[in-house]
This record gives sequence, C-alpha cells and structure tokens, in this order.
Amino acid sequence: MSKEKNPLLDPARHSAATQMVHGGGKRSSFNETSEAIFLNSGYSYPSSEHAELLFQGKIPGGHNYSRFANPTVDMFQERMALIEGAEASRAFASGMAAVTNAVMSQVRAGDHIVAAQALFGGCRYVVEDYAPRFGVESTLVDGRDPENFARAMKPNTKVVFIETPTNPTLELVDIKAVAEIAHAHGAKLIVDNVFSTALYQKPLELGADLVTYSATKHIDGQGRVLGGIVLGSKALIEGDVHTFLRQTGATLSAFNAWVLLKGLETYALRVKQMTDSAEKVAEALGAHPKINRVIYPHHKSHPRYELAKRQMTRGSTLLALDVKGGQEAAFTLSDSLAVILISNNLGDAKSLITHPRTTTHARLTEEVRLETGVTPGLLRLSVGLEDPDDLIADLMFALDQV
Ligand SMILES: *Cc1c(COP(=O)(O)O)cnc(C)c1O
Repeated sequence: MSKEKNPLLDPARHSAATQMVHGGGKRSSFNETSEAIFLNSGYSYPSSEHAELLFQGKIPGGHNYSRFANPTVDMFQERMALIEGAEASRAFASGMAAVTNAVMSQVRAGDHIVAAQALFGGCRYVVEDYAPRFGVESTLVDGRDPENFARAMKPNTKVVFIETPTNPTLELVDIKAVAEIAHAHGAKLIVDNVFSTALYQKPLELGADLVTYSATKHIDGQGRVLGGIVLGSKALIEGDVHTFLRQTGATLSAFNAWVLLKGLETYALRVKQMTDSAEKVAEALGAHPKINRVIYPHHKSHPRYELAKRQMTRGSTLLALDVKGGQEAAFTLSDSLAVILISNNLGDAKSLITHPRTTTHARLTEEVRLETGVTPGLLRLSVGLEDPDDLIADLMFALDQV
C-alpha cells in the first residue's frame, strides 16, 4: 500500500469525463465492474430497531422502499450531481415528472409563477393550465428580455421558470440576469437545461436554484428509455423535492436508471460529436437560397450570439431552419430525406427532424406560435452521430426537391 492518500479518491476532484464513467458507482459484495441493477421494491432489516432508526431518517443512505430510494437510482443521481456540480439530485420517471416536481414542490395555492412563454409543450401546460387549477397563478413573458421578468414579478411570486435555449427556436434567456431578478423578489429560479446539456451550460453557477433534465434526451440519447432529474442544493432536494417524489411516486425504475448510467459513460463523447456536426450543418445550410434563416446559438447570425458565447461553452446539438415556401416546403424537405428521420424526439444518436407547427406546437394558437417564432416553414433538426457529410448531403438533396 502507498503511504499517501491518493487525492483522486475524492470523486469531486475527477474531471467531468472521469465522473461520467465512475461517478456515484457502488459495488456490491460481488465486486462487479459494471453497475448492478437492483430490481427490488423493498428491503428487509436486521432488526426492528434498525427499521425504526431507518424510518426516523437516522441511517444515512439507508433504503426502505424503492419508490424513493434504490441503489441503482442512487448511482445515477450521484453521477449526475457530480457532472452538474450540484449538492444533490432526485431522478424521475420522465422529464415531465421532473419538471412538474420542481415547479409544484415550490408553490402552494395563492402563489404566483413567472415563466418564459417559449417552453417545451408539456412544461408550458404545467405552468399555464395545471398550476392555476390549484390556485397558483402564472404569467408568461417574452424571455428574450430579462426586464420582462422584472415587470411580471409580484409579491407572491415564488418561482421563475425558464428553458434556454428554447424549444424549438433556440432563443436564449439570460440565466444570470433572470436569477438576480428572481432572487431580488425572493423567488426561486428553475432552469430546464435540456437543449444545452449538462456539458455546455451550468445554470447553478449562473444563479439557478434548481436545474431539470429530460434524461430521455442526450443522457440516454439512444432512444430506449424515459427519465428525468432535478438537481440543486441539499436543502431543496432533500426537502421539498424529495418529499414530493416520495409522496407522489413518479419514480425512475431501477432498470431505466441503469440504462441512463450506461448512457452517461458515453455522454460526453456523443454530445461533443453531435455538437461538432450541428456546427457543420448550421454552417453548410446558412447561405442556402431556399432557407430564410438558420438558428444556431454559436453561429454569428444568432440574435443573441454575445449571450450564447457568455453562458454556453458550445452551441447545442440542435438547430432550427426556416424554409422559404412555408409548410408545404417544410413537408417536402422532410419527406425527401433518407438518413434523417421524421421524429419529435431529440438528443438521439439518430438525426431527427420535426415540424413543430403541426406536431409539438399544434396545441397552441397560431398567434402564440408566431410570437414564439414557430412559423409554417420552421423545422427543428436534432443532429445525431451519423457522418456530418452524409447529413449535409441528405439535406442538400431534400432542399433541391423543394
Ligand atoms: C423532452 C423535454 C421535456 C420532457 O421530457 P420527457 O422525458 O419527454 O418527459 C422537457 N423539457 C424539454 C426542454 C424537453 O426537450
């Protein structure tokens, strides 16, 4: 045995790439290399007194029921917390379960939520339709200007909720500025960080109180399982977030947690490759005569390029394009593709294209759609792991058919 204690025994000292492979790992008495799947709902105790202490919360890391504590889920939560730089996290059955928990665990009847209007469909439903049913009012604002949040704040505002870049038009919200406004009014800032990923944007460092992910997207990234996660301080996560999860039960299954753990082992490689390709595709499509505009955060033409460079280290695996000729042109383009699939998922190894106006954003009125940039010719492209030259050739062929 060496004489000195190796500083790398502390996983917080590992770089992100190492944490993605080892973080949160725990071995059973069999010393398995890969993480084990604990497919059990309950636990037995060595004594009645042990059970009593466990239920009093006096045995740290103890397990009493898999609705709220399971070793495989623990490993996923700990690995994600290390990657995010968060004190704690809780995993959920889907991204929507995670967002619903983060928002609803922070409010009660009589409170008020301010949210950006450009939100993922389900998230918008939670704040716009669902929260008011329980006496929690909400105000949706144009998130591009932080002043709009300041103007919407009320004495009873408890939560500010944003997503950046936004779905599907990749608009940006200034996380730091909005965090300062929220905190000045005693509200918590929740950031849905799916589009930038845990690798390229750090909302907690910019002042957010809770960060959420749909793990279905880049974390699995291979189209297999649904999952979600909420990360933040120990106080918030082990308090409100844990209690809401424990009592309402939108629990991530141990099997899905294991799939997500395996996804994290290649997360950095996949997201980096997909981002490199997205940059190339954005560049290649930028000057195409049949396209009005390509929207990509780290492209100089982005209206908030400055902010994109400041708060995101890379520009996302997604881009949006507005095709000339509206919906008909957008449909012709999508239907002429051979490699890129028509699908509303994102962050996947397979490149996916979607027409938000007729799918994910069909529930909104045309007025709201146009306000948030969802024009008839808008397509959202999630760039996958195929050779970027094949993707560009596929898109160029399809554009020729328009
Ligand atoms: C997909 C997605 C969600 C919802 O996640 P599910 O896993 O599908 O429930 C929430 N927010 C954003 C930005 C998403 O892309």
